[in-house]
Amino acid sequence: MSRVFNFSAGPANLPTEVLEQAQSELLDFNGTGTSVIEMSHRSADYMKVAQAAEQDLRDLMGIGDNYKVLFLQGGATLQFSMVPLNLTRDKKQADYFSTGIWSQKAIKEAQKFCQVNITSSAEANNFCSINDKSSWNFNPEAAYVHYTPNETIGGLSFDSIPQTGDVPLVADMSSCILSEPIDVNKFGIIYAGAQKNIGPAGLTIVIIREDLIGNAVDNTPSLLDYSTQASADSMSNTPATFSWYMAGLVFKWLKDKGGVSEINKINHAKAAKLYQAIDESDFYHNPVAINNRSIMNIPWTLKDSSFDKEFLEKSVRAGLVNLKGHRSVGGMRASIYNAMPTEGINKLINFMNDFASGK
Ligand SMILES: *Cc1c(COP(=O)(O)O)cnc(C)c1O
Repeated sequence: MSRVFNFSAGPANLPTEVLEQAQSELLDFNGTGTSVIEMSHRSADYMKVAQAAEQDLRDLMGIGDNYKVLFLQGGATLQFSMVPLNLTRDKKQADYFSTGIWSQKAIKEAQKFCQVNITSSAEANNFCSINDKSSWNFNPEAAYVHYTPNETIGGLSFDSIPQTGDVPLVADMSSCILSEPIDVNKFGIIYAGAQKNIGPAGLTIVIIREDLIGNAVDNTPSLLDYSTQASADSMSNTPATFSWYMAGLVFKWLKDKGGVSEINKINHAKAAKLYQAIDESDFYHNPVAINNRSIMNIPWTLKDSSFDKEFLEKSVRAGLVNLKGHRSVGGMRASIYNAMPTEGINKLINFMNDFASGK
């Protein structure tokens, strides 16, 4: 068997050990004689799986009892609508940071439900740096402040958590959840599609402070109301049972690795190596300001884009796949989430150096 190093932005690679465990118990889960995929979400066996996953995530992130953890569907994209639907009953205005493609999509959706104030836009910087805090323009009447700590496509990330006082802070952590320790208490809502740093597609994690639940605007569809989901422990309808189970295996894997602070050290080392290789070469280039560089998604261009095709063909032959950059940025991108081993980074850097030296 030969597994390649998969640098896809999402659905992304999962730890091989996790896939092996899922494989080993796929036909007969825990002596039940059925697959976890075939089980009722309300069965005692499955409830244990679901509860253990939640507890492990709580342990990993240090989530307090005043937060609910929801295991939903619809991706991070559905949260672009659920957040304003649930938070703008009393105040019809919200603050959004505009730092790249994902935050722009969140803004566009929010504009259907409320008046959006742009706290700060990175557009004038070509989405390559985040403006200094002193220029941020918060609206004191905002129902919440939304930001994207890590822009998956541009490889742009915030170097600190915005301070919003009493205004709830909402974060789309799809591509950075569990990559570094954070103080959950600074947030009103954290949400993330699972398919980048957690597990298979089809699952969305929402961590929400309890006081923000139960105030959805009139006519909010029940399933889009956090209170429906919270009061039914995310089982108001059939949840994404297999993805939830897989997420639980990844959480256990992460705990075995020493948790978020340990993986964070590895993530920093992996990213630093790759940035160094890019910066030291005059063939590759990353345009992002040093203190806003993502440790999860690293885009770069080649000196001459006419080499892109050859780079991609040869990288696939070297067992390094899905390095093509997003069409809006061009060039290449390596998504190096928690599950990407350091060995994959080393192999990528060697390949890049070899490729550049032949030019
Ligand atoms: C991938 C991604 C999304 C979209 O996630 P879906 O689960 O496909 O809806 C949203 N925001 C960020 C930051 C992402 O990386």
